[in-house]
Amino acid sequence: MAIRANPRLVEELEHYGAEDVAKCYHCGNCSAVCPFSREPFLFPRKSMRYLQMGLEEKLLGNLEPWLCYYCGECSEECPREAEPGETMMSMRRWLTSRYDFTGISKLFYRSWKAELAAILLVALLTGAGFLLFGFRWGGGHLGVYAGEGAFLTTGAVHVFDWILGCVLAAFLGINCARMWWFSIGKDRTLRIPPLAYLRQAFLLPVHFFTQKRYAECGKKRPWAIHLALMLSYTTMLVLIMFFLHAMHSERTVWAAHGFGYLATIGLLGTSIYALRGRIRKEETHYKHSHETDWIFLILLVFVAGTGILQNVLYRVFHLDVAANVVYVVHMMGVVPMLGLEVPFSKWAHLAYRPLAMYFSELQAEAIRERERAVAAAGAPLPA
Ligand code: SF4
Ligand code: SF4
Repeated sequence: MAIRANPRLVEELEHYGAEDVAKCYHCGNCSAVCPFSREPFLFPRKSMRYLQMGLEEKLLGNLEPWLCYYCGECSEECPREAEPGETMMSMRRWLTSRYDFTGISKLFYRSWKAELAAILLVALLTGAGFLLFGFRWGGGHLGVYAGEGAFLTTGAVHVFDWILGCVLAAFLGINCARMWWFSIGKDRTLRIPPLAYLRQAFLLPVHFFTQKRYAECGKKRPWAIHLALMLSYTTMLVLIMFFLHAMHSERTVWAAHGFGYLATIGLLGTSIYALRGRIRKEETHYKHSHETDWIFLILLVFVAGTGILQNVLYRVFHLDVAANVVYVVHMMGVVPMLGLEVPFSKWAHLAYRPLAMYFSELQAEAIRERERAVAAAGAPLPA
């Protein structure tokens, strides 16, 4: 089958943060130093090649950008300063936009103004909706934060959270299915038995909860920061989805609030650390920042900060009116962060990265099996 090339692919990836791709002359230094580059996934040189040659379909089915954890070794060793590490990052953004069937992700990555406008619009709608509910339908009072007569009843907020969670899970689920189709489903040369999917399924929680591959890159601090951020975020999500009543209880429920405080400190501390890193640009993986990186971090700081403030106002100073106002403001950050960032922007990698680990293992097994079969038959390997 003829392979079509897209001569504007490099230009397209530049919208996603790729720089200096044309400088690469394929010496292979980057693949030699990359701690994760091993058969059958030799990167980043091969991905740079796909990009330079405009092999869009190959790049779309390529899981290698997700196997890169941006340790920066390759960029440091590149004699041409072709920035392979940042190019892999830009490929992850591009892939995210291509997995997304709605086109929203593409719009956000290509125009930060569009992303910001969408966030502001969703924030304003959320604020208006919550105020309307509190004043008109909820039957509560602005002067009551928790318990009977509360301005925002926990039950109503909980229902809202679950509806939002289901909608974003549906979007993300479809995008994950598309990722499978592009990387595995479309490839007629790969035969993966259903049992292999089951046998390797343990890789999903392992890579999601430990990100252990990141720890193998030799730089422990970025791994620890990333892990703390991810665990804080997951803890907060679990508390909101399953323990909201305890979180909003009038009395302190330490089993829930203790985890809540830890998660908030984790979210705030790691996002401030990342913001500082991006401002200082001392570490290779913080040298280049796409607009979406800033929006994501600022949103995180905003959500964590208003979450803390709301708790302090209610639990320390007993200022119910102020706590309710900050609660509405907090939700104006939470809803766009969950509703827009998770399925369409940077947060989507929480799902794509472990999936890529899982799919790549299935691919590797299938490739080894295919090579064994071809060798046994004495036929040449497919190109
Ligand atoms: S990106 Fe740099 S190190 Fe890698 S193959 Fe190209 S020139 Fe060599
Ligand atoms: S940034 Fe690190 S993990 Fe990513 S391709 Fe380069 S060397 Fe490999």
